[in-house]
Amino acid sequence: MKIKFWGVRGSIPAPGPETNRYGGNTSCVSVTTAAGNLLIIDMGTGLMPLGNALMAGAFGKGKGRATILLSHTHWDHIQGLGFFPPVFVGGNQFKVWGPGDSPKVLEEILEGQMDPNFSPLQTLRNLAATFDVAAIVCGKEFEAEGVKVIAREHPHGQTKALAFRIEEAGRTFVYASDVGYPDGGPPPEAIAHYAGADVLLHDSTYRPEDQATRKNRGFSSYEDACGAAIAAKAKRLVTFHYDQDYTDDDVDEIVAACKTRLEPHGIGVVPAREGDELEI
Ligand SMILES: [Zn+2]
Repeated sequence: MKIKFWGVRGSIPAPGPETNRYGGNTSCVSVTTAAGNLLIIDMGTGLMPLGNALMAGAFGKGKGRATILLSHTHWDHIQGLGFFPPVFVGGNQFKVWGPGDSPKVLEEILEGQMDPNFSPLQTLRNLAATFDVAAIVCGKEFEAEGVKVIAREHPHGQTKALAFRIEEAGRTFVYASDVGYPDGGPPPEAIAHYAGADVLLHDSTYRPEDQATRKNRGFSSYEDACGAAIAAKAKRLVTFHYDQDYTDDDVDEIVAACKTRLEPHGIGVVPAREGDELEI
């Protein structure tokens, strides 16, 4: 599968000259399966450049189909939806899997951000593409676009978020963003969920000293990410969801620190950067 990064920033977009190298868009990652099917993980503002790229293919002709996996519904994971050009082309089909006690609850949350007070789109029903919304049952494997997906819920401040384990032909990609572990680090169930991943994309929002003053926000430090990668025996760690105040130079420092920590364990480090692609 091919994994491409469209938005790698946490919490709020952070455009500007100091974030040009890694990018300022919020969470959005695409996964293209061996068969050429498309999964989109999270709909942060990175969804807009992804949509622009997709319009050159089947999505521009109303013949596109994709599955969207939502880790949670904070703004930085849903705000790209109204700016995703394929939703304005009739015939395109999206299956949306996300958290929530029922599909109706999840649909109402997505509908809420289209309210006229927030968006000129007014309602999801003004989007020409079709949406089939489904609520994820944690721990229960499901198939999406021909690959195996399993979700696990983790703490994220006052709320929860989902980590996705995606498997295809013996290869595993884990997406674990917006993770606020309890004191003591990731529990054994989290490590089991990440175990042996070819690529573990993990929340690396903070330097440890910044995380210490912002514990209640429910994000990981790069040390948390490294600890999880070592415990899970991941092959590569992808750093992700950088704090909005961090410059490219700050992110360089985080990546260098991860390399120092992980290279003795034989674990590679790849920083998520807008436009970069990995194949596993
Ligand atoms: Zn986030």
